[in-house]
Amino acid sequence: MMQKLLVATHNRGKIAEYRALLSDLPLAVTWLDEQGITADVAETGATFIENACLKAAAYAEQTGLLTWADDSGLEVDALDGRPGVYSARYGGPGLSDRDRSQRLLAELAGVAPAQRTARFRCVVALALPGGPIYTAEAAVEGVIIDAPRGENGFGYDPIFLLPAQQRTMAELEPALKNRISHRGRAAVEARKLIISLLDHSQKAAP
Ligand code: IMP
Repeated sequence: MMQKLLVATHNRGKIAEYRALLSDLPLAVTWLDEQGITADVAETGATFIENACLKAAAYAEQTGLLTWADDSGLEVDALDGRPGVYSARYGGPGLSDRDRSQRLLAELAGVAPAQRTARFRCVVALALPGGPIYTAEAAVEGVIIDAPRGENGFGYDPIFLLPAQQRTMAELEPALKNRISHRGRAAVEARKLIISLLDHSQKAAP
């Protein structure tokens, strides 16, 4: 029987992207909604690694499945790395992505361009039920500009400029964003981990 991989997300966009990335592997990819799991795991960690591991381990325990969980966010140097693990919750409940970006721009008012460096970071954790957890991580460096630009993407994409492209993340075609982004590159590393796990389990089989 084909091994199942649970991707710990409720986000349809994410599951579609991860499914495409893993489509050539001998894995049946499922997700929380398909498993009828509605309860969220509290993201109480202080780092992306802690949160990704916490989620992956909890859902692996709950389902008995190999589980993939990610955690990501934006670190702004002039704000000592904030919003970081609080990126989704920055500014409190009830805000839109646009509100959060505006709030960040307000906090950075008066900060010179050279001091507006930032990065998106993503960690993917892979947990075996009751077993070890493996992690893959990637970051993409950029600069926070002073007004939003671009319509693609989500979150802080419109205010995050990629110096090499002279475009914001929200101005990139989705395929290019996937190729260079923190999440896309962490996922490619996590895919390599899965391949070695599958190799090991094949070799261990009688
Ligand atoms: P999560 O890891 O999916 O929970 O994402 C955490 C938060 O970080 C998101 O809600 C966004 O605010 C921000 N974030 C993470 N990745 C990106 C990205 O690729 N573009 C813009 N914002 C992002």
